[in-house]
Parts: sequence; structure tokens; C-alpha cells
Amino acid sequence: MICPCQQQQPNPKAYAQCCEEIHLGKVPKSPEQLMRSRFSGFVLGLGDYIARTWHASTRPSELVLTADDQWLKLDIIKAQGTQVHFRAYFKDSDGFAVLDEISNFVFEDEHWFYVDGKTDTHSVMLGRNDVCLCGSDKKFKKCCA
Ligand SMILES: [Zn+2]
Ligand SMILES: [Zn+2]
Repeated sequence: MICPCQQQQPNPKAYAQCCEEIHLGKVPKSPEQLMRSRFSGFVLGLGDYIARTWHASTRPSELVLTADDQWLKLDIIKAQGTQVHFRAYFKDSDGFAVLDEISNFVFEDEHWFYVDGKTDTHSVMLGRNDVCLCGSDKKFKKCCA
């Protein structure tokens, strides 16, 4: 199985070679690794993992997750210092949309934690000849248009 954080990327890594070992307890070395593993955790519905990588100061008191296959693609725009800027594409009732977020992380007790983020969600307009975002590898006009 391709790792959820690697969907629709060139040379995608398998889940077993990417986020799985982190979900199983390996400590993420960077905010980007943590961010990727949290994205994959959201897709796979790993509520416990999401909760324990969320800083106590901002963690929701209740977190119930179910696997969510609406998430289609993750692009890391920039990872620097304690911030990661990413775009996560998903399908909604009107078509495709993207969550653009600059996340803040903190390093405490030898672990990185997610603190909070500045988010912006908007719909994605694909051109007829663009590759469809659903992952089919087809042109949009021959796929989900
Ligand atoms: Zn991954
Ligand atoms: Zn499609």
C-alpha cells in the first residue's frame, strides 16, 4: 500500500517504508516527518496517534476520528525551523478543494508536537486538460469533470 502522504507523488513510498514505522512508535526527526505522519494518521483514522502528537496546550479534549479517504494528495510547500507549510487536497460535495496550512510545531521532551496552524480552505478549479486530482492519472475532462 502506498503511504497516504505519498499519494500522487513521483516515486511514492510504501506505507511500511514511510509513516507506518512512525505510527508504530519511531520518533519523527523533524516537523515535516511529524506533519506527514499526522496527515497519514488522519487518512487512516488513527485518533490516538493524532492526539498524542498534539501539544497538550492546544489538543482537543475529545478527538474521535474515522478513516477518511477524501484526502487525495499532500504537497509540502516549505518546511523550515518549527513551521511546515503544506497543501492537502480533498474531494468535497462540489468537487476538489485544498486546505492550505502553515503549521507550528514545538520540540519538547525529545519529541516534536503539533501546536496550531493558520489555515485557508478553498476550492480547486482544474483545467480540462489538467491531470485529474482523484488519482486516476487521466485528464480531468475524461474523468471527474
Ligand atoms: Zn508517509
Ligand atoms: Zn478524476
